[in-house]
Amino acid sequence: MLNRFARISFLVAALSAQGLAPAAPRNLDAPLPVGKQVKVGKLDNGLTYYIQRNRMPEHKLELRLVVKAGSILEDDDQQGLAHFTEHMAFNGSRHFKKHELVSYLQSIGVKFGADLNAYTSFDETVYILPVPSDRKEDLDKAFLVLEDWAHGLTLTDADIDKERDIVLEEARLGKGAGDRMQKVLMPKIYNGSRYADRLPIGQEDVIRNFRPETLRRFYRDWYRPDLMAVVAVGDIDPAKAEQMIRRHFSGLKNPAPERPRDYAPIPARTDSEALVVTDKEAGPASILIRYPVRPFRERETLRGYREQLVEALFGGMLNQRLQELSQLPSPPFLGAGSALSRLTPRYRSYNAMAALGMNGATVAIDALVQENERARRFGFTAAELDRMKKTMMRTYERAWNERDKTDSAAHAAELMRNFLEGESIPGIEAEYRYVNDMLPGISLDEINAYAARTIPADSGKLVIYTGSTKAEDNVPIPTGDQMLAAIAAAEKRDVSAHDEKAVAAHLMDQPPAPGKIVAEERDEALGLTKFTLSNGVKVILKPTTFRNDQVLMSAARYGGQSLFDDKDMFNARYADTIVAAMGLKDFSPLDMRKVLAGKAASVSAGLGNNTDVVAGVAGATDVETMLQMVWLKFAGVRRDEDLYKSFIGKQMELARNRMSQPGALFGDTVLATLYNNNPRAPRALRPEDIGKIDLDRAIAIYRQRFSSAKDLTFIFVGSFDVAAIRPLVATYLGSLPTPDIPTAYRDLGIRPVAGVVKREVRSGTEDRSTVSLTFTGPGDVSELEELRLAALTEVMNLRILDVLREKLGLIYGGGMEGSMTRIPYSHYTVGVTLPTGPQNVDKVLKAMFAEIERMRTEGPSQADLDKVKTNWMQNYRKSMQENAYWLAALQTSLTEGTDPGTLLTFDQEVQKLTVADVRRAALRYLNTENYVQVVLNPESKAGDKTGNRAEATASTAGKPDKQG
Ligand SMILES: [Zn+2]
Repeated sequence: MLNRFARISFLVAALSAQGLAPAAPRNLDAPLPVGKQVKVGKLDNGLTYYIQRNRMPEHKLELRLVVKAGSILEDDDQQGLAHFTEHMAFNGSRHFKKHELVSYLQSIGVKFGADLNAYTSFDETVYILPVPSDRKEDLDKAFLVLEDWAHGLTLTDADIDKERDIVLEEARLGKGAGDRMQKVLMPKIYNGSRYADRLPIGQEDVIRNFRPETLRRFYRDWYRPDLMAVVAVGDIDPAKAEQMIRRHFSGLKNPAPERPRDYAPIPARTDSEALVVTDKEAGPASILIRYPVRPFRERETLRGYREQLVEALFGGMLNQRLQELSQLPSPPFLGAGSALSRLTPRYRSYNAMAALGMNGATVAIDALVQENERARRFGFTAAELDRMKKTMMRTYERAWNERDKTDSAAHAAELMRNFLEGESIPGIEAEYRYVNDMLPGISLDEINAYAARTIPADSGKLVIYTGSTKAEDNVPIPTGDQMLAAIAAAEKRDVSAHDEKAVAAHLMDQPPAPGKIVAEERDEALGLTKFTLSNGVKVILKPTTFRNDQVLMSAARYGGQSLFDDKDMFNARYADTIVAAMGLKDFSPLDMRKVLAGKAASVSAGLGNNTDVVAGVAGATDVETMLQMVWLKFAGVRRDEDLYKSFIGKQMELARNRMSQPGALFGDTVLATLYNNNPRAPRALRPEDIGKIDLDRAIAIYRQRFSSAKDLTFIFVGSFDVAAIRPLVATYLGSLPTPDIPTAYRDLGIRPVAGVVKREVRSGTEDRSTVSLTFTGPGDVSELEELRLAALTEVMNLRILDVLREKLGLIYGGGMEGSMTRIPYSHYTVGVTLPTGPQNVDKVLKAMFAEIERMRTEGPSQADLDKVKTNWMQNYRKSMQENAYWLAALQTSLTEGTDPGTLLTFDQEVQKLTVADVRRAALRYLNTENYVQVVLNPESKAGDKTGNRAEATASTAGKPDKQG
């Protein structure tokens, strides 16, 4: 099935007006056919394959090796080895010696990051390999890589031993409050099932000490053709792909004897139980009510498809109601959701969860349970269903409109779900037809009956509170008994039917008096049409065929927060978010959703550090709606004290909670050190800052900037027709007010410290450290210099991977990034972040500076530079077919006053880059006499186990279940 509705919401598109042929009656219980776009086959040894030709992007093939085996299949002495095996796939195989594989893939433009191309979970291990498809030898070698992963890993003792440190570093990254709390929660959530003992990262003592044969046993038992699928989606002849799959995978054999591939059962809970789990470094407090698990298999019939539509409509409406509650002035929770959700491939459960605010746990429980009860007893209203249907219809229409413009990776993900979970794959043509047929016939009665039987009334439930040990004075941590009592009370309470407030049918009653297009010119090379409007506002139009149903827009000018004095710092920083949180004109944000049901359009207007920015996105037929929203961003500021209070409450919770995170103090220290405690330097919001925010002053600041469209140029890129958009921009942009306001930025004098400055921060209880280096300085910014700096950071990242990770085993992830900025003065920033263990900090620093010194004296190897160039050329080829890339490039050149034509010659500039260029960039931008070094270390020294180590503490209430 198409992504179960929610998964495709990222597609931006619009309504296509033409109807489809009326449907013939269907047998609802017939199995859903596999769409003709995909070829599904099975080899004699049981290996499944999927082949789909797709030309988005061109010259690229997305390959997946999907193994239906994960940590759940590990024996007790193998805990962590499903994941370890995945690491070993990059450490030597029959046709690729250790390191050759990664190096070869890099040489054809595939970028290898920390596990970027593989993952392991409870029930599956997936290898992801996107390759260029234009050269036959690359293609053949790519299938050879997959074949080696499937049955050709070398798994030598030495290679395994070498990888232990890297996997342990990866395990270190996962440590902290979340991990400590999860260990307490897992046995309860999985109700004694094997899942609770098989977290994919495994056990550290196993990772450290397992015998290599134990890992080989896992590979032998579970990497077998009857548990595998090869997925090939992309710009390739399907017959050729099938040939290669047969050639490479027919020789695989299943082991004898075969161990049964079972799915671990999860017993359904029968009694209610409450669990309070706290940790001093815990994230924001939340509650989860989990109802008993239900066995689940995908329903591969039309009837099943229809049920999924009902489910999605129900979930959409219920969650909209919960969101409504979160926007009350004193909301019962900051956010909440309730749904029947997937727990494992074989089980689902009904859940209700909420992020807690000032009103605490019992109030949130009361609201959650009541809202579910209301839906269970009274169902929904016709207006709610009508809106949700429009929204759903639109989502499918967008997907259908983009049917030939959908990325191969998205198709590959769908085919993987078919293999792993049995999700149907009829194809978007068929799905769009089904939805058109079925949606009108789904009645309110049917939805309400579904709600009545799906929302659990009084079954055994698990109620979990998670939060910080340090409770706020006025929001005490609840006890388990209090939570259970709150649920029981809420279930008994009288609820009444939902009260639906009517909302106006249109954003604007009538359009504003239009302006005129007073000048027009063409840029043939870039395919641009440029207008000047009668109020001075300018427009640049770039129609494209990259997508069928997407229009992107942006406009920027100088000004922003820089124009406001220190006392208004926080008002200026939050002015745009505060105004957006209150809606537009007469509409609250929730009213906006109602008015916009079935339309795809959104707009934001904001104050950056030095710029004012307007941005928008719309489906092809919703450009007018988007422009109306732009118009209202200038003329329709809405003041709503309740929504403001709700917004401020949320920020306060987030700011308070952030302070208990080990990373917060570290991040603040890096910035404070770098900018020598300049109060205007960027940093995260703290609780004490919130008192400095004033609603009316924030609105006034927003109005100062957005009461005038002076000096704005609106750029449009996407699927639109220039003739059709002309009257719209004349009407909505030509009528914007343009009184005189300052449109230059102000240099606030924020400058980094000079020389070498070093700091240490002590925070956090786990044995975790992070090394941060920041190199900054003035520089002559040009596109060529930016390119050289980017090449420098890319080749440095290759070295960090090769040396710090693979050779020395000091880190799992981390790396370098760089940027150059002209505003408010020309300068560069290069940052390095390397998480590691406290005992390795000095080694990491030494290795990092050795690599920097090497780059400064020798430059990169030609091979490394070529890898970077090849990867860039492939990205460039793809990006030139993307609206967002064009929009960003046009916007940057306009703001910075550079030639947009360089967009067309990027590839030539890349080809000209030399080793000497990069070496010179290293000398310039990795200046070892001018940098800031901040190291995060744990509160207590390594090895001191008796210090103030944090522990997740748990208390329970209720009758514990019989565990299965
Ligand atoms: Zn890993």
